[in-house]
Amino acid sequence: MEEIEKYKEVFEKAKKVLEFSEKLVKPGVNIIEIAEKIESKILELGSKPAFPVNIGINEIAAHYTPSIKDDKKIGEDDLVKIDIGLHVEGIIGDFAFSFSENKEDREMIKVAKMAVEEAGKILRENVKIKEISATIESFVEKTGFKIVRNLTGHLLDKYVVHGISIPNVRNENNIALKKGQALAIEVFVTKGEGWVKEGSQTEIYQFKKDVGVRNIDGKKILKMAEKDFEGLPFAKRWIKEIPQTRLEIALKELVEKGGLIGYPVLKEVSKAKVAQWEESFVIE
Ligand code: MN
Ligand code: MN
Repeated sequence: MEEIEKYKEVFEKAKKVLEFSEKLVKPGVNIIEIAEKIESKILELGSKPAFPVNIGINEIAAHYTPSIKDDKKIGEDDLVKIDIGLHVEGIIGDFAFSFSENKEDREMIKVAKMAVEEAGKILRENVKIKEISATIESFVEKTGFKIVRNLTGHLLDKYVVHGISIPNVRNENNIALKKGQALAIEVFVTKGEGWVKEGSQTEIYQFKKDVGVRNIDGKKILKMAEKDFEGLPFAKRWIKEIPQTRLEIALKELVEKGGLIGYPVLKEVSKAKVAQWEESFVIE
């Protein structure tokens, strides 16, 4: 099958997962339950997670996935972002939506969604990254909301979630889209500073390179990261065979030795709520 057709098939599966997910997200529900149901749905459709389901609440913009015994529930006034990645043999789809029952937050979500749609309208062969970025920034700046400047969209490649960045602010990147290129447009908006920083918690890791470790748990994790998770990002909670404390120690060591990359939670610097919208596209 041609690559473009493969992408379309993966995006169709992703849309089914999104429809399923939208029904799960409401106040009072445990986020671990949402994450596990979504990840099961991905498998049920014959795909695999391209990364753990990210569930970012309020000022948490990205890189949060529930821990194994997460007791967090969605609150009445929460702004919840659900970011879903799935793949079939390395062909990745990356999509996200936001949920809130708060009127003002819904306005912010609408801006993020419309910014993605505006960018989507100009996508075709030969369009430059800087043109996509300028379209997004010009749209959002008219609304009074702020773009989170250090979070970006990205190209998608086989088994690579984050290829070259597609910033949401003006830049001089003249790289042009080619036929068959897949990409994810994702926009984060806020009323805060428009900047995220790393928090102290890390729940998501990814294989980087094979390094020598004496720790038996470390060896096992590194092998799983490369083979079972296929070099794609994985959740700490996915490793059920190693007790939590030992797991934490081994993961820390693997990050220090350069075998794994850790992705700490990203929070808006002024603790303002953040809305996200994301869609994947393939250039035909
Ligand atoms: Mn995403
Ligand atoms: Mn993405």
